Amino acid sequence: LRRAARHRTLLESNSDATILLDAAGTIRGLNRGARVLLGEAPAELSATRKHADSPPYGEGLFAGLFCAREQERIKAWSRRTLAAAPDTGTEPHEPPEAELINGVRVRIRAAVPAAEDRTAVLLEPLPASDAGKQQERAVAELHTLLEWVEEGVVLFGADETIRAMNTRFAQIAGLAPGEAEACTTLDELLACLAENAAEPERFAERWRALARGTEGGVREELQLARPVPRVLERAARPVLGAAGRRLGRVEIYRDLTAQRVFQSKLLQTEKLAALGQMVTGVAHELSNPLTSILGYAQRLLLRNDVAGRTEEARQIYQEAERASTILRQLLLTAREARPERKRVALNQVVLRAMELQRFGLAAEKIQLELDLDPALPLISADPGQLQQVLMNLIGNARQAIQQQGHGGTIRLRTARDGDRRVVLEVRDDGPGIPEAIQACIFDPFFTTKPAGVGTGLGLAIVLSVVREHGGQVKLSNLPGGGALFSIEFPVAAIPAIEIGQRSGVAQEKIVSARDSRRSIAREGLLPPTEPAPARADRSGTRVLVVEDEPTVARLIADVLEDEGIAVDVLLDGRAALDRAAHEPYDLVICDMKMPGLDGQNFYKSLVRARNPLQDKFLFVTGDVIAAHTQEFLERNRLPHVAKPFRVEELTENVHRVLDRRTAPGQRAAAAKKTQ
Ligand code: ADP
Repeated sequence: LRRAARHRTLLESNSDATILLDAAGTIRGLNRGARVLLGEAPAELSATRKHADSPPYGEGLFAGLFCAREQERIKAWSRRTLAAAPDTGTEPHEPPEAELINGVRVRIRAAVPAAEDRTAVLLEPLPASDAGKQQERAVAELHTLLEWVEEGVVLFGADETIRAMNTRFAQIAGLAPGEAEACTTLDELLACLAENAAEPERFAERWRALARGTEGGVREELQLARPVPRVLERAARPVLGAAGRRLGRVEIYRDLTAQRVFQSKLLQTEKLAALGQMVTGVAHELSNPLTSILGYAQRLLLRNDVAGRTEEARQIYQEAERASTILRQLLLTAREARPERKRVALNQVVLRAMELQRFGLAAEKIQLELDLDPALPLISADPGQLQQVLMNLIGNARQAIQQQGHGGTIRLRTARDGDRRVVLEVRDDGPGIPEAIQACIFDPFFTTKPAGVGTGLGLAIVLSVVREHGGQVKLSNLPGGGALFSIEFPVAAIPAIEIGQRSGVAQEKIVSARDSRRSIAREGLLPPTEPAPARADRSGTRVLVVEDEPTVARLIADVLEDEGIAVDVLLDGRAALDRAAHEPYDLVICDMKMPGLDGQNFYKSLVRARNPLQDKFLFVTGDVIAAHTQEFLERNRLPHVAKPFRVEELTENVHRVLDRRTAPGQRAAAAKKTQ
């Protein structure tokens, strides 16, 4: 005890950093100065403390206070200096200078033997040498550099200790804050990261193989599954010292995730574009035979002379109609976007869509209820696209109700939403849309319906059309079951005619579809078509049909001949031009795409020849969707019917053109436009 007290006094009487060592170089005591100089206790030294009250660093090796590369030298010095008694005549050893673990350089002086077997050693801090300053600067530069590069960087020492790691690495590897600093070796890093990998074992094995370091430069890809899926690229190179000694390894990581996503999207886009072109081609090819099937099936039905076969005719008609809906959808999806904009009465579009669906709905015991606001302002829209939106929504509602097998009700409602928006609602009392799929139903090709029934395009088209019109689609499930699609459109810029004021009816609730059509017609929203409008007698009327597809040409002729019209059919444009120059016709119905002289050029030739038929022209086309065709039709204000068409679409348009009176001067203007 007395000895210990003596040592303590000896130590504390000295303000210089002093350490008491035994002959084996073990620390037996330190004074305050030494503690201050050493800073925090290195973990491995404090771990050797036997008692809680023994001094920090106690009983660790003196050499352990110095950084790794100095330790062998210090051990050698300790052996020589501490074991040798100063009076044995051994040559004094040059007091060494060395770097402490905390980076401070010190000169070590073995002072007096403090007691029988103890030596007091003084540590004199040295002013930072030029080399020291340079080193400090290099370290600062390295750290700044590491933090500024885009890539994640980890530097390993030869013993797989982590000498440096930048924040970017921690970020892309998905290390939690604090985890990165806690990792000091490859093993610790693996413990944090391996389980984030898509294949943890392979991931760890690869990294260890890198550490064994038989390879030179390595570049490879890593897949992480957690916390989010990522693709990383790792490039590793050995760090070589003088004479090619391997000092460690540098690993550089790049996050390829965004690039990969982008590449796959690009690939998908390219695939879709190619698919789109193919689809458009196929759809055009199919539109001719479909027009004929649809038309003849409808004629069979209307003629009522297929006794006992009406159901079969109806089946053919319905299936052909289904096929043509799909065709239109495909063309609309693949189309070059150039929507038309007109001031449109939404109620009219609703009524038209309802007309088209009524036939099928009644057969399936599905009621259609309308609740249309007669004072609805006009919207600026493409009527064809709006109709598509409605047909898709009604079609979905219909299929949803069918699932239940006992009929149901579809309700269509239009209303104002303030002064600037109108709302269109389509609701059904089907099963509704499960929450789990609500996020995907607007994705193209997402469908829960069996192959042949669903294409997954319907709602994707609805969404894109509504967005193009500056509107929004909202979806909700109704409390009593069923889905409600609610679409908002902005009101057209010019104030609408207040139809409600004319009729004196604020809002009329209409229960039966048939009644609704009549009542709306009464309000002047729609020309009455029930019963069929009385049409002018067409006997003596002559029509020239120019169509290279013989069955379609025949169908048109058959339909018109039923109306009492005389029809000549020609299968190519040149012959038609010649015929039109010599014979009087009241109307030309012409296909757009024909070999030789096509529809556009045939029309232009008529204009150049100042043939009056230029004003009695109806195009039939499978190509209205193409932007250049659309533009041509619009510029010349030419009426057209898109294939595959229904019989009444054709006849309606034929009568409209025949009834049209040409305003004086219009022809001259047309001649100018087509130049
Ligand atoms: P498709 O009708 O060809 O499947 P859509 O894009 O129109 O493609 O619809 C996608 C999916 O959304 C449907 O398969 C169906 O599961 C669901 N869905 C759409 N409308 C309704 C509705 N009114 N009621 C229930 N489910 C619906």
